[in-house]
Amino acid sequence: MEIAVIGTGYVGLVTGVCLSELGNHVTCIDIDDDKVSTLKQGISPIYEEGLQKLLQKNIAEDRLHFTTEYAEGLREKDLVYIAVGTPQNDDGSADLTSVNEVCGSIAYHLEHDAIVVTKSTVPVGTNEYIKDKIEAGLVNDVSIRIASNPEFLRQGSAVHDTFNGDRIVIGSEDDEVLEILEKLNAGFHLPIVKTNLRSAEMIKYASNAFLATKISFINEMANLSEQIGANIDHVAEGMGMDKRIGSAFLNAGIGYGGSCFPKDTRAIISVARDVSYEMPILENVVDSNERQRGVIVDKVMERFDSVKGKKVAVLGLAFKPNTDDIREAPSIAVTEKLLAEGADVHAYDPAAADNAKRVLSEQIHYAASVDEAVDASDIAIILTEWKEIKEYPIENYKKHMNYPVIFDGRNCFTLKEAKDSGIEYHSIGRPVVRS
Ligand code: NAD
Repeated sequence: MEIAVIGTGYVGLVTGVCLSELGNHVTCIDIDDDKVSTLKQGISPIYEEGLQKLLQKNIAEDRLHFTTEYAEGLREKDLVYIAVGTPQNDDGSADLTSVNEVCGSIAYHLEHDAIVVTKSTVPVGTNEYIKDKIEAGLVNDVSIRIASNPEFLRQGSAVHDTFNGDRIVIGSEDDEVLEILEKLNAGFHLPIVKTNLRSAEMIKYASNAFLATKISFINEMANLSEQIGANIDHVAEGMGMDKRIGSAFLNAGIGYGGSCFPKDTRAIISVARDVSYEMPILENVVDSNERQRGVIVDKVMERFDSVKGKKVAVLGLAFKPNTDDIREAPSIAVTEKLLAEGADVHAYDPAAADNAKRVLSEQIHYAASVDEAVDASDIAIILTEWKEIKEYPIENYKKHMNYPVIFDGRNCFTLKEAKDSGIEYHSIGRPVVRS
């Protein structure tokens, strides 16, 4: 099919590349000149395993193009995907500024009947709004139909998830649109859920809200386990063996971050508020997660009365492994607090340092390796469970640090490893190992 994808962020770029890999002709449109010229050269501006290879392959085979021009990008297209960002407003609601701009641009430039497919995560009812908005602004004598196709990929394994996800959700009030999209998506060989627009929009929010709840739940169990002498590893293992609970998302840590869970939980609370419905569970999930981000620094401050002048190695800045994204990453609050307390922060991340430099304080020193960050440090704090950080030999902390004490916000090491290494080790939901 002839497809346009608007927005080349994590979702739009992966969608465009993967749809072209299925044999479709795809043109990706973005307003960011630098991004588009980088993409035209076959270079991915984001870090996602396997993405650059597929990008280059499909450009070379002439199925994938990039442009900043809507007129060029929409020409002869049957399907137009919207994949721009929907960040959060100050009141927690979804900011639809980019979606609105895109509607205006589609209406102005569309010269061909098309199905508009929304991949962006948008509040329930937005797809109807998108349809009305585009129709109201159409310049040419063309018609549009609308579908919701929320995205479930995980950053860090986005390409893999597109071909190996759990399901594809397609919502539309138009049976023919459902059929066309079902046929297009059949190439991914995943179960397809067909529903109406509003249910498709709701499935996305309900899924993210549930996963966020599971994370906050296990974190609260971890905090309590510390107080009463239980070990969250064993608790989670015992819980997860129950099929009704499942073992995924039962890893205690320092809270969720990223561009989705924080904003999507707040957005669904905001949607509920609009219809005067309260969501006490989710409101507490959001508060609980905020509190969880502080626990690692609380542990440091409890152990050391002051970190003033101490060299602190911060390992991992990305909100999770295998991504360069630091949006809503716990590292932001942690480094700010450490700097406010006078620490000398030396951070290392395998992929997110460049993005971190744009957001985090200039006072942070960036190391080129774990070795360099922990060298002559007084405290090491693990914030992201990158493979490289998890597999860094625990004995090396002893070798490199002034006094080896680790605060592990992601439970990268077993308590046995910590004990055997003779390092003081503080983690989440487990007893402290003293050297
Ligand atoms: P992103 O911020 O990485 O990318 C958005 C892109 O849209 C940017 O490249 C920006 O330049 C472009 N853009 C903005 N306005 C534009 C316009 N008027 N015309 C053309 N391009 C424009 O966003 P993302 O992380 O890819 O997320 C996109 C949507 O998908 C959001 O609604 C998000 O909630 C949802 N989502 C994200 C993920 C994820 O893991 N990132 C997963 C599932 C769903």
